Amino acid sequence: MSTFGGKLLETSLDFIRIDDFQTRNFDGSAFFLSHFHSDHMRGLYSSEFIKLLVEDDNKMLYCSMFTKYMVLSKDRCCKIPMEKICAIEVNSTLVVQHNNRESVQVTAIPAGHCPGSVMFLFEQGKTCILYTGDFRIHPNDVKKIKALHDRSGMVKKIDTLYLDTTFCHTKYLTFPSRNQSLEDIVDLIASWLNEDCLNEVGIRYNSYHGLEPILILISQRIKERIWIADERSYANYAVIPELHDMLTSEKLSAKIHLCPVSSQGECQRCLRTGKFIKTIKPCAMSFNLQQLQKSRVKEDCNVVRVAYATHCSLEELIKIVSYLKPENTYPCVVPNNTSHEQVLENLQLSVLKLQTDEKENLLSCANESSDQESTSSSSWFQPTKMSYLSKLQTSNLSTTNSSDDSLSPITPPAKRRCSSQVNEAVGCSSVQSQVQDLTINETDSSDSIEVIEEPLSQGDTIEDDSPPL
Ligand SMILES: [Zn+2]
Ligand SMILES: [Zn+2]
Repeated sequence: MSTFGGKLLETSLDFIRIDDFQTRNFDGSAFFLSHFHSDHMRGLYSSEFIKLLVEDDNKMLYCSMFTKYMVLSKDRCCKIPMEKICAIEVNSTLVVQHNNRESVQVTAIPAGHCPGSVMFLFEQGKTCILYTGDFRIHPNDVKKIKALHDRSGMVKKIDTLYLDTTFCHTKYLTFPSRNQSLEDIVDLIASWLNEDCLNEVGIRYNSYHGLEPILILISQRIKERIWIADERSYANYAVIPELHDMLTSEKLSAKIHLCPVSSQGECQRCLRTGKFIKTIKPCAMSFNLQQLQKSRVKEDCNVVRVAYATHCSLEELIKIVSYLKPENTYPCVVPNNTSHEQVLENLQLSVLKLQTDEKENLLSCANESSDQESTSSSSWFQPTKMSYLSKLQTSNLSTTNSSDDSLSPITPPAKRRCSSQVNEAVGCSSVQSQVQDLTINETDSSDSIEVIEEPLSQGDTIEDDSPPL
């Protein structure tokens, strides 16, 4: 969970704020959101922050196109106007001005953490800053990122690396590659469903999105449609073209379902299905090095945890830091019972160990698997057909009324909990209707909208089921 306060150490970039939108950061003018997880969105939907954005022409929010979509689609009661959110295309660079005097060049780099997640590279004169947000990129993929290299292919001199240190601890030295974890999960599901025609699978994940790669592989291998009980989860997944045809509203016939995010206890569907259900929990924190040496899967009473990491392991971190060789490193995740210095020490000792280990035994496995992972870590998490999302860039919402073949209707889950006509529209799941709803909401009183919203402190960020470190 991010503990980054929002402000960079570099005084020349003191107009930039990242992943924290609380009062203490209101003096910034360029606000950046790395991805749509709530520990990176503190204060984003507060009326004070929205007022600040709206009333000051110099203040803007910057994020990837997909994150912009997510921000707008969730933003039903407190509205961030579309024109105050500037989407940066992935792998492209934007110049951000401040008071017509200072400017900074910003490049959005895919972070491989969740859909729309990006790292930000800030360049201003000789100052070069990399903020990773949450990320999982294979070290070999870092070598391929053009923005991090100069014209001669040398790594740019990075002054400060603001690093996702979620797993910066020796007990999280390695994790299976994401491809390996995906294979494990899909193999488990396939063999359970094949065992008995009455068998079913529940997938439990404490976030409203993030399972996209798993669902896509299920659709390719198992050919079973998936039922999503949770309305907000459904909306997040249904917008991704690759998942479009594999979701179903046929609750009873679906052999695979996503358990509701809000049910921290038992999922009612799983409970009802009894001995025929296997519940799968993709997570990483439950697996330390010793456990992983035994198995990548832990089963207890038909609940199966599978090691699935969306943050870099320590091994990946030290290889990336060793490659980038930043002047300074700033840990963006400092667990409760740990200090900033301890996290840095973990990292620095590990990097030192790597540098002095001539044989690099520690990392030999990572090198072997690099090609397989390299093809996936930067591309998996960006939906491929993003053209329809570009509608969100238009400042004139009325243009979204035009018909568009790419916006074919998706069957929403049968149960809808909205009460008025407006709410009916809010419940509709196509991108087009959601964009139209935002238009409606801008003119209607939000009092008439009874949208179910979970508190920001829950759900979006809790990717694992045990406390960090
Ligand atoms: Zn995250
Ligand atoms: Zn369930």
